[in-house]
Amino acid sequence: MEGKKRKAGIGNSKIRELAKQLYLNQTLPDKGLRELLEETDKEALDLLYGYARQACQLHYGKKIYVRGLIEFTNYCRNNCYYCGIRRENQKVQRYRLSKEDIYACVKEGYALGFRTFVLQGGEDIGYTAENIGEIICWVKQKYPGCAITLSFGEWDRDVYQYWFDCGADRYLLRHETADEEHYRRLHPVGMSLLKRMECLSQLKEIGYQTGAGFMVGSPGQTLEALVADLRYLQTLKPHMAGIGPFIPQKDTPFAKETAGTLSMTLKLLSIVRLMFPKILLPATTALGTIHPQGRELGILAGANVVMPNLSPANVRLKYQLYDNKICTGEEAAQGKNQLEERVRSIGYELCMERGDSKV
Ligand code: SAM
Repeated sequence: MEGKKRKAGIGNSKIRELAKQLYLNQTLPDKGLRELLEETDKEALDLLYGYARQACQLHYGKKIYVRGLIEFTNYCRNNCYYCGIRRENQKVQRYRLSKEDIYACVKEGYALGFRTFVLQGGEDIGYTAENIGEIICWVKQKYPGCAITLSFGEWDRDVYQYWFDCGADRYLLRHETADEEHYRRLHPVGMSLLKRMECLSQLKEIGYQTGAGFMVGSPGQTLEALVADLRYLQTLKPHMAGIGPFIPQKDTPFAKETAGTLSMTLKLLSIVRLMFPKILLPATTALGTIHPQGRELGILAGANVVMPNLSPANVRLKYQLYDNKICTGEEAAQGKNQLEERVRSIGYELCMERGDSKV
């Protein structure tokens, strides 16, 4: 028992030192990053989360930015093994919102106070680049003070440029993994990590506030792959990072795999916050799905964005990227007051401003 106590004490001082170094220098050698990722002692992890909160508050205070998420299509030309809306999943009831449906979501969101709209969808070739451009132009004309984030996958550079010229401000494209072997485990032949990374570089060059990111605990993910993810983020220097647990979906090849854990996700949120103090970092819906207080714990580990769902109620269940995705309670935009209450209960406040990245 005494030995155990002593061990925990040593662990604490070591992790205190590593977290402090990361706080001061925004980087650590690979070994230090691995040690943080392997830490399991609760007290030690609380120290890490505390540093991450401090780093976040330095730049963003206690504001939690809110984005209205519109999942506008679940058609996808891709076949990622982990994803519930992959092309070969025959069980999905496919839907594609019309531009009028999307405008109605934006109108409702605006009335609820939202000033950033995230248009997310599978890579759906049922829309032309011009269709998407028209939607962006409409939103920007009607609500000039609002920001539009696209999260719509991989397209040619000239298409990204065209949407940017139409007024899109931000683009979320998780790189998923920076490790080639791991990438191959998650994606079929025909998809490429190099292409994904090229898209991310192009988005940044064009001038988008760009978000990369990855799932935590996806099949085949090693500590080395996670360190590679962190190094890739250091090279890309994104404005945002989407980091949430992998959760299996029953009609995918990964149906029987294990979900990512709360503690590993929280550790990564903290590490990313410390490495990139000014980054916008969502406490994701997936985190809220694996634990009832997942998003609050995410905020307490350094996250500063939440993305309630503004999609029409009748399509929400059809955008099942993973099993049991929460979509009707306070994660729905209409549940904003409850969300506000939850955030307040941990000492933070929802911020409805458009909330640009300070990176
Ligand atoms: N098509 C766009 C793209 O590729 O970026 C956006 C939609 S895609 C469904 C959004 C994100 O969902 C992916 O980047 C992936 O990380 C996440 N996702 C997909 N399946 C998931 C799963 N089973 N568990 C957790 N997250 C998942």
